[in-house]
Formats: sequence, C-alpha cells, structure tokens
Amino acid sequence: MARVMANADVKKELEELDKKHFIHPTSNMGQLQEEGPAFIFTKGEGIYLEDISGNRWMDTLSSLWNVNVGHGREEIGEVAKEQISTLAFTSTFSNWSHEQVIRLAEEVAKWTPGDLNVTFFTSGGSEANDTAFKTVRHYWDVQGQPEKKKIISRKKSYHGVAMGATSATGIPEFHTFTQSIAPDFHYVDTSVQELKDLIAKEGADSIAAFISEPVQGSGGVNIPPEGYFKEVKKICEENDILFIADEVICGFGRTGTNFGMENFDVIPDIITMAKGVTSGYAALGGMVISEKLHQELYEKTEGNFWHGYTYSGHPTAAAIALKNLEIIKEENLIENVQARGTQMVAGFEKLKEKYEAISDVRGMGLLGGISFDREQDAAPISPKVVEEALTRGSICRAVVYGGQDTLAFAPPFIITAEQMDDMLAIVDASIEAAFEAQKQ
Ligand code: PLP
Repeated sequence: MARVMANADVKKELEELDKKHFIHPTSNMGQLQEEGPAFIFTKGEGIYLEDISGNRWMDTLSSLWNVNVGHGREEIGEVAKEQISTLAFTSTFSNWSHEQVIRLAEEVAKWTPGDLNVTFFTSGGSEANDTAFKTVRHYWDVQGQPEKKKIISRKKSYHGVAMGATSATGIPEFHTFTQSIAPDFHYVDTSVQELKDLIAKEGADSIAAFISEPVQGSGGVNIPPEGYFKEVKKICEENDILFIADEVICGFGRTGTNFGMENFDVIPDIITMAKGVTSGYAALGGMVISEKLHQELYEKTEGNFWHGYTYSGHPTAAAIALKNLEIIKEENLIENVQARGTQMVAGFEKLKEKYEAISDVRGMGLLGGISFDREQDAAPISPKVVEEALTRGSICRAVVYGGQDTLAFAPPFIITAEQMDDMLAIVDASIEAAFEAQKQ
C-alpha cells in the first residue's frame, strides 16, 4: 500500500515535470499540457509493457515497429554492459575503425539480398534516408551528371523527419508543419503510369532516385498491388534512376523475409534500415549499397566522402545489433513471424466478416492493418477502438491522417499463438465496444 502511494506521488511529480520540460515527438502539445503523458512506462517484458502504476499492456506495435525480439532481453543488456565497460565509444570518421562496426557491416551483408554488401551507419532511419539522398546525388555527380538530383517518393510514405526525410515523406501534415521543405522532391500515387508521366515531365536526366517502403507503415500499412515494384524497378533501370528501398520497418524479418522487397522479387540499388537492426535496444540505422555502387563511388570520388555522423558506427549500438541479429536467427523468429502473421490475417478476415464497417484487412508477416469505411463526415472510429483496447490490456495504433481510418499492427516476433489469439480477441471486443459507444 505504501509503495502504491509512493508511486502515485512520483507519478504526479513526473507528470508535472514532463509538461514543463519535455517536448514529445509527433505529439499534440496542447493536449499534453492539459492532460500530461498518457503512460509513464517503467518496465518491458516480452510482448508486454508496464507503467508506473503497475498497469500492463500488450505492445501490439512493438512500440514503434521496432522492439522485434521483445522487451527485457537480459542477454542484450549483458552485451551492452560488456561493450560499455570495454570500449563505449570511438569514432569511425576518416580511417578509424573498431571490431564491432566491422563485424556488424559483415553481418548485415549476410542478411541483404544480391550484392548489397556495403553499409554506412547512422543513428536512425531519418539519417539513413538523408544519407541515401545525398549519396545518390553525389553518385550522379561523380558520373558526370550533376543535374540528376530529384527524388521521387510515394504519397502516404513515411521516411522520417530530418530535412531530406521529411521532404521525401508523402504525408502532407509533415510538410505543412514546417512551411518549407527541401527542393527537388516529387510524389506519385501508387501508379506505374503516374511514375512514367512524372519522369516524362521532369526528364530522366534530372532524376536521381526513387524511394519507397516495401509496405508503407505509418501511412496505414499499405501493400502495393502485385507486380508494382517489378514494373517500377524496370522503369528505373530504363531511365538510370536508382531504386532505394526504405526498409526501416520491414528490414530484418518484419514481413516474413529478411527484407521486405524480397516479397516482391525486387533487389534495390540501396537499402535504408534502422529499427529492427537493434530491436530498439540502441539507436542505430544505416544505408546499404551494392558493391557495384561502392566501387564506382570509391573509384570516382576525388577527396572525401563528405558525410558522417558522430554516431556512425557506435560501438555499443553495433554490439547490441550483433546480439539482436543472433537472437533472431537462433530463435528462428522469422519462421514465427510467418506463422503468427498467417494467424493474424486469418483473424482479421473473420473480423471483416463480422463488421460491415471494416472495408479492408491486410498483412504481410507481422505487419497488419484493418481499415474502416465510414460515412463521409463521420469521425474516424479507430481512435475509439484504441481507447477501448487500452481498457482491455492492449496498446494499438490508429492511423487517421490523409483520410485514413486504420488500425495498424506490428507485434513482436516472439508473440505466441495464444498471445495472438488474445490480441485478436481484444481487437474484436474493442471494435464492438467502440461502435456501441458511438450509438449512445
Ligand atoms: N522510414 C520509415 C519507413 C519509418 O517508419 C521511420 C520511422 O518510423 C523512418 C524512416 C524514420 O526513422 P527514425 O525515426 O529512426 O529517424
């Protein structure tokens, strides 16, 4: 009892400090000032998160689509402790190196398809995408085509919030927030014809690269139609446009294959990655390029590759990534992603049969979405479903921008069949309760 009281006091104190001193990423600032943070988490264990009051929820989005091996892995903690005690940090700028970054670059090459074997490391996904945009422009420059600068991305895409990444992101809210985005970014719907038309209009000799997530995550778990990426890759090859796959969510097993583009039988020229490489146990991302591109770059670049972050190849983050990737392999977690993904989509299909308002369900591996078709002026229902799910022990994500009304799911790779049944039962009960509440 005394402990519960003490926690209540600490909670109150933290809520006030949070309001006063902390700006939350992608948040409603006014709401936070009024209500304070909705959760103050203190612990993670497997697929569950626990808050300061002792409440426990299933983490059905793996936090930010990233805690793939689940929370509370002591073996990763041990590796981190060992690395921090031995060599917490050193630079990789210029000609400096260290064992963990070298071993991780080799390990990443074992996971990637084709000859995508050479990695530049970053602290996260936004930096990985900015790195890719700068690299492709530099590449065309050293090829004697400095005018090839434009980047084409897809509407509803999310590529992060650094300046280049924001500019590539195809969700308008991220642009209007800052009033100005970088030049030379263009957007297409998921239409091969629209891409062809844009290339014809802008001129292939002005376009450096096309970027896409294999399955759009933050934009609402959107899986492109059969054959789309194969066609796009062909068009890119015909027009000397580099193809960048943003595998920040899909990479390292999320869609049931090592990388998401493998589901579409496409090998990109560049992969950007983050999240799943460390399962969120450390901040790390990267850009992986083909050996061919690498060779052209080092043969033709005069002087330096003028790009690098302090934490490009952080030793502790690299050691953690190595352990995380070992766990995914040793525990055959990608097989579990496939099995539980099939179970998840089968469950979604049943929900679609039950609720007329569900317009579409979809999934690839453990990345899934349920969309609602609502009358035009009706408020989206998915935030209400999220609210109901919270009272039933599950944290879910609603996607409501761009006219969407979607529930997004990306549970940890370790989820069991029984836990998946629990998740589906909670989603079912929460949808029912949300519609009931709306009737009243
Ligand atoms: N790309 C994709 C597909 C993402 O989902 C995200 C983050 O959610 C990013 C890039 C940006 O990554 P970060 O937030 O690590 O900068």
